[in-house]
Amino acid sequence: MFLIVKKTTPKIAGELRKIIAKSRFIKISVRFMKLNLGIMITTKCNRACPHCMFFCSPKNKKAVNLNIDKALKFIKTIPRMVDINEICIYGGEPTLYYKLLKYFISRLPRARRIQILTNGYFKDKKQLNKFELFCKWFNKKNNFVKISNDKYHDIFQDRKQLNELIKIYPNLVWKRREDPKEFIKMGRWQKHPIIFTKPVNCILRIESINIEQDGKIDFCCGGYSSAIGTIKEDFQDIIKKRHKFLKFLREKEGKITHDTCKRCRQYFSEYFKTSFDTRWGK
Ligand code: SF4
Ligand code: SF4
Repeated sequence: MFLIVKKTTPKIAGELRKIIAKSRFIKISVRFMKLNLGIMITTKCNRACPHCMFFCSPKNKKAVNLNIDKALKFIKTIPRMVDINEICIYGGEPTLYYKLLKYFISRLPRARRIQILTNGYFKDKKQLNKFELFCKWFNKKNNFVKISNDKYHDIFQDRKQLNELIKIYPNLVWKRREDPKEFIKMGRWQKHPIIFTKPVNCILRIESINIEQDGKIDFCCGGYSSAIGTIKEDFQDIIKKRHKFLKFLREKEGKITHDTCKRCRQYFSEYFKTSFDTRWGK
């Protein structure tokens, strides 16, 4: 017998888990939830773009690298029944740490898609060769290396060279071209007058959480929501907090719209009875 559950709440998921534990003779396939997991592995970067939302730069003395083993310990608390839709590794610049990346990726759970974001900047042939070797290693089904694609990255990318590599490695692709209006006002970009137009993402049907480089976990973009926990906790506790807060948000707003994002910090402080985390700006 196959039981497929496409959408559920932590409460129902808990009940189903109990049923599964008891069912020795019934084969049950349960899809509890879809999850997008973002993982920021560093704030170190080989560039210092004016639109960087995380204050990344080569000179960033406060740059922090994620404690990979602790992050893996947290990731292991994600129940097997969770359908991991996507794992997205970003920074700073993840390709500054190939050894770490390979170690991390080899230990990640199965996901429909694993993607790594890079700025596509390689200062010389030696660095480009190292990148190519990594692409070769990573070139497997459902793995993608995505290259940032906007007017600020164009300035330092050798697009001809990158397009040559793209022809060889099908898993190396350009990211969708981004408009500066989609950049979230945080980090260095918060001083920019452009108005943020990115749609609200907390109402999407896919659960999403981000592990940040200091081990904090948030469920929206770091600059708009705030940390709801850390990698020392259990995945299910984090998801519960996420659901409870979103319920509170819906009760306050009725319908969540683009405009809600402006008030989200205020609700966040009200709900968690804590001051807002200002890692990425005010
Ligand atoms: S925007 Fe990307 S490439 Fe530019 S400084 Fe930030 S992390 Fe580095
Ligand atoms: S309303 Fe809050 S949680 Fe939802 S997308 Fe906006 S900032 Fe994020």
